[in-house]
Amino acid sequence: MTADQVPGDPRQLTLKLVALGEVDRKRSESQNLMDAVPRVLASRSRHSREARATVEACQEKLQLFRVHLKSLELDLAEREEALLKANANLLSAKTNQEYSLMNAEIERKREELGTVEERILEQYEVIRQGEQLVKTSEGGLDEAKAEYGGFEERARGELADHQKELEALDERREQVRKAIDVEILKLYDRVYKAHGVAIVPAEGNTCQGCFSSLTPNDCNRLLSGRQLVVCRACQRILYMPEVLQASPS
Ligand SMILES: [Zn+2]
Repeated sequence: MTADQVPGDPRQLTLKLVALGEVDRKRSESQNLMDAVPRVLASRSRHSREARATVEACQEKLQLFRVHLKSLELDLAEREEALLKANANLLSAKTNQEYSLMNAEIERKREELGTVEERILEQYEVIRQGEQLVKTSEGGLDEAKAEYGGFEERARGELADHQKELEALDERREQVRKAIDVEILKLYDRVYKAHGVAIVPAEGNTCQGCFSSLTPNDCNRLLSGRQLVVCRACQRILYMPEVLQASPS
């Protein structure tokens, strides 16, 4: 059998094929939307991961600030001890010159001690700012998590809706296919597999699938509405919307 020799009413057949094409178009639309959900979720979860990495980086920095404070405090304690010793040694000075030398040394140690104390105060401020950064980054993480949670819930809901749509379309597809001749279905399926769309309108004497011009003969056959016409270039099944819309003669 060729596509020309169609059993039954060719106009009815074309209408069924158009319906099948519409169902298949909607199915692939639903499928594409479903396929997109995991990708979109993965991209959204990236925000949460980045926010978590920021928190960790801030915590690490704060930890380093605290380690530095610890070393400053140790330094201070050592210097305080050295100063006490120097003060005690002062009593053992044997000459006035030795005494004033030792006194000068004590003065120098005291100044150094003051500098370390200032650094410790500065470090307290650095730590305070570091704690603030950790707090801010934790807030950002909480926000990202909440946003993702809400988004994920919506996405899962949409996925379930698309799933239902797809099931309804599958059912409709089965019904439409049952009413179409097996050989015609084979032709349809072959072209669908090759192009993703098996039936297209002919507009302005042009196949709307591949935009090849149709021969006058094919145009006449399409206009007659009595034959199934396929595009000679792409093999897609053709129909003329105006012929299908007209009441059957
Ligand atoms: Zn074509």
